[in-house]
Amino acid sequence: MHCPFCHYPDSRVTDSRTNEDGTATRRRRACPRCGRRFSTVETMTLLVVKRCGVTEPFSRDKVIAGVRRACQGRPVGEASLALLGHRVEEAVRAIGRTEVPAHEVGLAVLRPLRELDEVAYLRFASVYRSFASLADFEDEIRRLRAEQAGPALPAAAAALASAPAQVPPRHAS
Ligand SMILES: [Zn+2]
Repeated sequence: MHCPFCHYPDSRVTDSRTNEDGTATRRRRACPRCGRRFSTVETMTLLVVKRCGVTEPFSRDKVIAGVRRACQGRPVGEASLALLGHRVEEAVRAIGRTEVPAHEVGLAVLRPLRELDEVAYLRFASVYRSFASLADFEDEIRRLRAEQAGPALPAAAAALASAPAQVPPRHAS
């Protein structure tokens, strides 16, 4: 790393620390020629490979913009979208590769979006999975209903209401 002050082509690392979630390393550096100090931040580049083969840096904003389109007219606030973007980025980074196919990003969107809003989920899935007919929608809705009937229902319902986890128990009497 060149010194930004005198452009000496080398620098000495005096301190190095990783941020809390381990996604970036900050280094304090000193120039051996002019003695001035500066910092650098090192982050892992996460690239998304599009279907046409072009790569672009992963963008949480882009993910959120796509989901926001699917949420038009739905009771989904910006805070929920931001949280979803965070979850998607975590899931994509957890794949542990520096290049991730675009369809894996789409997959990472589906699960949290379904918990957030089922209508928005169906819209997003219809584009992402290229639903071609009404039958595709019907199949997906049948799958959703089947899963709702299972033990996953309370968690999904709680997430849909986006209410605090503490729900007072209802008594029959
Ligand atoms: Zn220097």
